[in-house]
Amino acid sequence: MASKMHSVRVLLLAIASAWPFCFLRAQALTPRLDDPAIEQRITKLLGQMTLEEKIGQMVHFSADSANGPGTARTDYHQQIAKGQMGSFENVTGAAETNALQKLAIEKSRLHIPFLFALDVIHGYRTIFPVPLAMASTWDPSMVERASRIAAKEATREGIRWTFSPMIDIARDARWGRIVEGAGEDPYLGSAMAAAYVRGYQGARLDDPQSMLACMKHFVAYGAAEAGRDYNTVDISERTLRQIYLPPFYAAVKAGGGSVMSAFNALNGVPATSNWFTLTHILRQEWGFPGVIISDYGSVRETIAHGIALDGKTAARKALLAGLDIDLESNLFASHLAELVRSGAVPENTVDQAARRVLRVKFALGLFDHPYTSEPQAGSPPQLDPADVEFARTVAEPSFVLLKNGESGGKATLPLTPDARTIALIGPLADSASDMLGPWRARGNAADVATLRTALTSRMQQAAGQVLYAQGTEIQTDADSGFAEAVAAAKQADVVLMALGEDSLWMSGEAASRAHLGLPGNQQQLLEAVAATGKPVVLIVFSGRPLTLTWAAGHVPAILQAWFPGVQAGPALVRKLFGDVSPSGKLIVSMRRSVGQEPLYYDALNTGRPADVVDLSRPPGNNGEKYHSRYVDEPNAALFPFGYGLSYAKFIYSPLELSTSQMSASGLNEKTAQALHVSTTVRNAGSRAGDEIVELYVRLRGTSVALPVRQLEGFRRLTLAPGESKRVEFTVGGDELAFWNIDMQYLVEPASATVWIGPSSAEGGSADFVIAK
Ligand code: BGC
Repeated sequence: MASKMHSVRVLLLAIASAWPFCFLRAQALTPRLDDPAIEQRITKLLGQMTLEEKIGQMVHFSADSANGPGTARTDYHQQIAKGQMGSFENVTGAAETNALQKLAIEKSRLHIPFLFALDVIHGYRTIFPVPLAMASTWDPSMVERASRIAAKEATREGIRWTFSPMIDIARDARWGRIVEGAGEDPYLGSAMAAAYVRGYQGARLDDPQSMLACMKHFVAYGAAEAGRDYNTVDISERTLRQIYLPPFYAAVKAGGGSVMSAFNALNGVPATSNWFTLTHILRQEWGFPGVIISDYGSVRETIAHGIALDGKTAARKALLAGLDIDLESNLFASHLAELVRSGAVPENTVDQAARRVLRVKFALGLFDHPYTSEPQAGSPPQLDPADVEFARTVAEPSFVLLKNGESGGKATLPLTPDARTIALIGPLADSASDMLGPWRARGNAADVATLRTALTSRMQQAAGQVLYAQGTEIQTDADSGFAEAVAAAKQADVVLMALGEDSLWMSGEAASRAHLGLPGNQQQLLEAVAATGKPVVLIVFSGRPLTLTWAAGHVPAILQAWFPGVQAGPALVRKLFGDVSPSGKLIVSMRRSVGQEPLYYDALNTGRPADVVDLSRPPGNNGEKYHSRYVDEPNAALFPFGYGLSYAKFIYSPLELSTSQMSASGLNEKTAQALHVSTTVRNAGSRAGDEIVELYVRLRGTSVALPVRQLEGFRRLTLAPGESKRVEFTVGGDELAFWNIDMQYLVEPASATVWIGPSSAEGGSADFVIAK
């Protein structure tokens, strides 16, 4: 039955769909994953392997659960020596990885090297800003360099596989894992996904300093209903292809060598046993030659999902769907041999999966260089000052200045020398651990320079003073610290409030929140301090956009700082004092309230769009009620996607288009020229700054409804005061194609609008026509 459904599906898709680049090869990767010379070596090796040894390559465990679910394992050493495991995670330290590798190389019958994995997400020892923050730089080259540094540090300890990048598009801020990705937009998400892959895998995967990237979680995990982690996902195939798949496609195209299946069920089928996504899309449409691993225990979880009654069925279904490695469920290890012997699964399927595991091991050069030579056994990884400096360089453009109103007749930020006494208040001002964010690998809170440390040193140099008061805990009702905080504020020229989330408990996996305000009584503390009338700068540390609606109306300046990594304090101080202008822009819409979830800028217009009515008047019986709007909240974000202020002042000139008429068939056949659209951006302010210039497109008159705006390009400009720069974008087939009513990826005749501007809600526009 299943295979019949599959073949109908394949037929339909073969007729209807075509990804833009169906001749995909992992061309960006060296050595190529499907290198014929490597394939020959694998064929020879497979010929010598027993069924159990092949299955061994498909078994992966985590060192931190010595008795993994459903097993009575106590001795990994024996399993390695017997070739019953192919890869392992959460082992750290060169001494340990080398010792285990020695077992695999010297004791196992065929001397097949082991592959060590870890969640190296935003740095290994040198912890960079969390991925959501790094993406707020809109600078893929920075993400690539940070990933390269992470690879250099992790590989020194024998880790050659990272379970990163997480490239799930996330549009619901309740979901804690929004912090691990690049936000709500597929275009920006794709640029970041490819950058991580290039950084981890380097120019050559067999360079001992390169790590295999693992794109996760395949797929649509970020669309979990109600933002509750691990929850069900039900979306159309068009949304899947248009929104959730593009970052994966970009990463595969960049040569990313592995993929992790997601925990969620997608349209009724658990992602780990989903033939349509794992085999049809990933392998057949995209030609992905790499390896697919399950998420932690997700093969076994298909029983809880309800598509298998026992472990044997769960293993069979996952394997036949296209999964290669079972992470921690112990079901491939327990059942595959019997399933093959009974004829329930073809041995060739096991051969193919084992081949893919061996393929990445060969490509990594592990057969030739299985051990790591650095550092000397047992010594902990050291921080390189140049990398720490780079961590600051990445953190600075990741901060988003949301508001900078006037206090005392001048802009609140940057701080000026007349701020002699600064009150620093809040539970995040000196919390080194929280600056590291979730997934901190071998990061160490002792490496962190907090805002308090950096501010104190800056103010000492300026002969000023810092009055520090924690005020409250991150999550508490106790307000015994309020009085001290208010007293400090009263004595200060300006108040910095460092508020936000706990980076481990409230952010990352299994950290969904139903309330998105400042946790505990931090809102009350903010209000008490603001009531002093002193100028307040609110600095928000969080792994998601919080609902800052009150603050936006009452606090003169707000800086979104995310979790900035080891150099949190120095990076913030340089921004606050204006050594550099803020340049980060939002990659997630800021919500006014939880009731707006899910919120994203590239929504469809609906038949009754709200922006045609007078939104300043409350909906009532005056005819304005029957529009797609809330009766008690505006539709618009508090701060929109793409938005962020600077100390500089950027003015955009009207758009210029190279033509106002294009041809759909010409673009589809690649015979027509693309359109060029340009503007000139001038810095009319008195300070230098970087501006991220954004390009958006809208198409109307098409066979399916398309978003009110869609990001299709961005560029970072550095402008001195008074300086102007022209920026030009190309708009062609790549920017204009979409999945049409017949699920073909094509350019259609349409009426088009293009914007270039500083955010998704601003910018000059121009129209053009896409004729037949
Ligand atoms: C997470 C993955 C992670 C894995 C590591 C899971 O719980 O969902 O993102 O890579 O653990 O084992």
